Amino acid sequence: MKSKEVLGTTPCEGCSGEAVIKQRNNGKKLLYLHCTSCGLDQRTGGILQAKWQRAINGEQEPVVEEPINEPEKAPVETQNNEEEPEPEKSSAGWGLFAGVLACVGLALGLKAR
Ligand SMILES: [Zn+2]
Repeated sequence: MKSKEVLGTTPCEGCSGEAVIKQRNNGKKLLYLHCTSCGLDQRTGGILQAKWQRAINGEQEPVVEEPINEPEKAPVETQNNEEEPEPEKSSAGWGLFAGVLACVGLALGLKAR
């Protein structure tokens, strides 16, 4: 029995495993997936076929949804020039100290009444 050649692997959509990519040796020579958990995926859509072909070529893609018309370059650039200066710890400490003093003063004031 002749087994078909495994051309590549790709993350399986049905499970978190890997599916092997093979090619039919008849008709349009379409690619198809075989996952040991999920079985065969013989969809013929051009996008999927191209995706599997890229996987065969070694261009592994992250397991995410297909990006739709994603721009190559993001027009908005993040500007990191104007970073807020870090608040000085000493002033924060003094603020806390003043807060404690205020509380103590309030408590003393209440006691005095
Ligand atoms: Zn699977």
